[in-house]
Amino acid sequence: MAEPGWTPPLRDELQGIEPYGAPQLDVPVALNVNENPYAPSPGCVADIAAAVATAATTLNRYPDREFTPLREALAAYLTREAGVAVTPDQVWAANGSNEVMLQLLQAFGGPGRTAVSFAPTYSMYPEYARDSVTGWVAGRRREDFSFDLDHAAALIGEHRPSVVLLPSPNNPTGTALPPEVVAPLATMLREHGGGVLVVDEAYAEFRRTGVPSALELLADHPNLVVTRTMSKAFALAGGRLGYLAASPAITDALRVVRLPYHLSSVTQAAALAALGHAEELLGAVAELRRGRDELVRYLREAGYDVAESDANFVLFGRFADRHAVWQGLLDRGVLIRETGPDGWLRVSVGTPAEMDAFVTALEAVRDAIG
Ligand code: PMP
Repeated sequence: MAEPGWTPPLRDELQGIEPYGAPQLDVPVALNVNENPYAPSPGCVADIAAAVATAATTLNRYPDREFTPLREALAAYLTREAGVAVTPDQVWAANGSNEVMLQLLQAFGGPGRTAVSFAPTYSMYPEYARDSVTGWVAGRRREDFSFDLDHAAALIGEHRPSVVLLPSPNNPTGTALPPEVVAPLATMLREHGGGVLVVDEAYAEFRRTGVPSALELLADHPNLVVTRTMSKAFALAGGRLGYLAASPAITDALRVVRLPYHLSSVTQAAALAALGHAEELLGAVAELRRGRDELVRYLREAGYDVAESDANFVLFGRFADRHAVWQGLLDRGVLIRETGPDGWLRVSVGTPAEMDAFVTALEAVRDAIG
């Protein structure tokens, strides 16, 4: 119970703010936070458990502050996945890519500086700006959610942001950014105040064939940062491991703002063991991409508007009352996400059985509410 006569001295801009997060409801079919529906295999679980048991024998000591073996393994993984040489000194990691991006704002944002993104986009970005006391400016995307480089150029010229945050594929729309957008934006930022371009590739492994990663542009753009996560394609959301690749000047700067020993020995051990199973953990990605394409086809045939998706989720609509549709699905045991522009809903790609349950529930809701 709160003491009478005293309220916590919460910063003015935090008064009345609800903590961010999708509802964590116990439902038969959870398709609301873009998780990978396939749990790690028994072999992977055994390796993670063994690695954590070994780490436990030295838990009286602080962890390796530089998490060197993990950085080496992440660099090797990125080199394999994107076909671009990435070295361990270009890699940085933290507890989820959310923390990586907060550290980027702590290092490169701050009072008197501005961060920019383009809506609709990931709703945590303005929170990183708020928490690092960085100014926040939201531009917009085109009606079809593609990126408008002319609009971006105007905004960058006006605000000279020190950080631009761009997810590719974008959440919640699924839209990937072509290199013809990323390269000129990085150049433009260097020429207008020297800002950092953060391409948030949380969903990159789900991109369609032929869509390149922004990692390919790293060598030519010292102000480019590409963030990744083990939470999505890697099926390790509970492990909390996000990372980035950038020039060593950027990874060096992040050492200044990170908390001492921010990555626990347990986290490092679990992530490293999981990386040893990369091929297997990523094995389901091809199936999830097929499921995504099938879902897009189904929804279009059923008459919905569907955004092009390179991610493991699909934005569809449009509904006069999207909340009623969301609630109707939930009443039938299927939880999706009420997010994005008004009239749209976002559904994650699950197992074939989960997708069948979603389709059955959606048809029932359609019959019920028209
Ligand atoms: N970026 C985007 C675009 C996301 O959608 C998410 C998770 N929803 C994240 C980053 C953060 O993921 P994590 O902290 O689990 O790495």
